[in-house]
Amino acid sequence: MSEATKLIEENLSKLKLWANTVPKQTFQVNLWHVLSEKDGDIIRTVIYKRDNYRCQICGKKSVQIHAHEQWKFDYSKELQILEDIISLCTPCHYNIHLGYSGGFEKSEREKVITHWCNINQKTREDFSAYVLNVFALSTIKEKKFIFFSSSIF
Ligand SMILES: [Zn+2]
Repeated sequence: MSEATKLIEENLSKLKLWANTVPKQTFQVNLWHVLSEKDGDIIRTVIYKRDNYRCQICGKKSVQIHAHEQWKFDYSKELQILEDIISLCTPCHYNIHLGYSGGFEKSEREKVITHWCNINQKTREDFSAYVLNVFALSTIKEKKFIFFSSSIF
């Protein structure tokens, strides 16, 4: 990645809640498509118990929890590697997948933005600037990640 790309990502990663930009080519590559429904349920149960049914970003408990895969991308080897799976509440999860999830549909957008502002202690103007950086980074990554192999275990 270029120095500018690294700088954008470094600045985004200082936020408590920020979108994990992943190459578009990997959107459908996920654990839940590989595993049976039963095995997926077993893994989710283990993750939720390990995380004490608490969102691992904002700390909320007693809310709907999602199992979120944390992927690492090795751009030089065009490799996608599963690093962890964590429990997230719905607004945190929608923020992580900013722009490519139901969370950015009009009906949910306000909740997603408000949650981001609250968690990061930022303003709506900050959010607008942040979104531009996320999409710039996402566009750069899509161009760099044309082919990939997937190694999830
Ligand atoms: Zn949360």
